[in-house]
Amino acid sequence: MVIQLVILGNGSPEWEGRKILPVTCFCNPICDGLQAKNELDFIFFYSWIMDNFFGTTEAEFKDLLIQWDEKPYRANQVFTGVYHRGIKNFDEISNISKSLRQKLKEKFVIELPEVAQKTESKDGTIKYLFKLLDGATVESVWMPSGSRKTLCISTQVGCRLACTFCLTGTLGLKRNMTAAEIVGQYLAVKSDLTLGEEEAVTNIVVMGMGEPLDNYQPVVDALRLMVSPEAMRISTRKITLSTSGLVDKIEKLKEENLHVNLAISLNATDNVTRDQIMPINKKYPIEVLLDCLKSYPLKPTRRITFEYVMLRGINDSLEDAKRLVRLLHGIPSKVNLIPFNPFHPVEYQAPADKTVQEFQDYLREHA
Ligand code: SF4
Repeated sequence: MVIQLVILGNGSPEWEGRKILPVTCFCNPICDGLQAKNELDFIFFYSWIMDNFFGTTEAEFKDLLIQWDEKPYRANQVFTGVYHRGIKNFDEISNISKSLRQKLKEKFVIELPEVAQKTESKDGTIKYLFKLLDGATVESVWMPSGSRKTLCISTQVGCRLACTFCLTGTLGLKRNMTAAEIVGQYLAVKSDLTLGEEEAVTNIVVMGMGEPLDNYQPVVDALRLMVSPEAMRISTRKITLSTSGLVDKIEKLKEENLHVNLAISLNATDNVTRDQIMPINKKYPIEVLLDCLKSYPLKPTRRITFEYVMLRGINDSLEDAKRLVRLLHGIPSKVNLIPFNPFHPVEYQAPADKTVQEFQDYLREHA
């Protein structure tokens, strides 16, 4: 494969041929003299110079069109071309001018993250390991259950919140993901699965690696692209964002007019226990978090999901169940009990089946 970097006037490269050649970029002071010696370097430089169209919101794109002296309504033609018709080459968008196509080619790439590994379980769950352009890896998990096909996506490489029951929390934060990398997981899984457009992914849960609200703007941009009728056209009812409880960011999210579902990773019913297993609780204690949720703008019939990872002897007593019912009183809510699944090096143990059953029964009877 020969690939040659051709520098156009303003620093945009074009693919040519089929084999990697050593290329040097002298297009502007930022990348002056950079040399790509192999394919990875080349792709890295290429994406560094170019923006990924998939991470660009309609608002940003309309601003760009105005700067280019183009009509803002062209955004609709370009977005529907790329997202609805699956166009990968701007030259194929025939209802816009040749000069706009050229500007788009000079500014953007249309690129999805690479599937580095795919592992399928007996129950049909598929784990995707995505390799990002800098070599970092993140996971997405596709979970089929009857007609419901849920995709869990990541928002950060690692996480800095250090919850003590979470594997990602042991990694620390490596970096935030871009909006393009966030939506790219959904688009890449959809194109990988040989299912119809409507069936491949019916629901998205933003609860993979990372704390979504700790990477606020790229996550909000990604959500806007997901729900936009011109882009991914996913119903807000089908998208759930999960947070450990960054209260300042939840307050901000209330103003975004996004109306996606909200899930709270609660996991304890008193501050001493929650401080111990989720250090973010020291900044935003349970009562502050729940108070902020009372004014979360829920659409009629919707509820906030509370995730509760049950850890033997830590948070699984009947007293916890009773406190949980009291805490959630007055908040339209549902509780998702998740018995802990032990893994090295975390030393927590799974709760006994009987304990889980009693906890669940108490919630059912008293909710
Ligand atoms: Fe893990 Fe989520 Fe806690 Fe981060 S916020 S450490 S990803 S549970």
